[in-house]
Amino acid sequence: MGAGRFGRSSLNSWIGISATKIPGLTKVEHIGIAVKDFASSIPLFERLLNVPCYKTETVESEKVNTAFFQTGETKIELLESTSSEGIIAKFIEKNGEGVHHLAFEVSDIFAEMQRLRNSGFLLLNEEPKKGADNKLVCFLHPRHTSGVLIELCMQRPPSKEDPI
Ligand code: ZN
Repeated sequence: MGAGRFGRSSLNSWIGISATKIPGLTKVEHIGIAVKDFASSIPLFERLLNVPCYKTETVESEKVNTAFFQTGETKIELLESTSSEGIIAKFIEKNGEGVHHLAFEVSDIFAEMQRLRNSGFLLLNEEPKKGADNKLVCFLHPRHTSGVLIELCMQRPPSKEDPI
């Protein structure tokens, strides 16, 4: 192994960064799957994954219900439209049920949005917005990401409006 590529001081500063803010997209936080209805899909995914759905939550602004399952470090997020005009209803109309987006965890969503904007990606929202599961989120246009809708998500500090 030897001394490695990094001197001690640069290694220490790298460890310092990792303890607080890690640059980049650090892991697949969840996979979003569009489904027609929770009544059949939640029991199906519970049977498939052999874990219970631990939370359902409505995101009014997106006209969507979400249901979460923990599978190791990554979550599965089922998405059910609350309206025939919703994004998920339209997605299913066009593509049928299936994988809708990949969500990556970031430790500084503002910095990552700036970095991606500067490197030519198209952000679908200019400011981070409130997503499900206590996250701040931003989506990237699939036109620049090989057809995959990408979500950035960052754990959000709790706010007064949050349900207990
Ligand atoms: Zn998501």
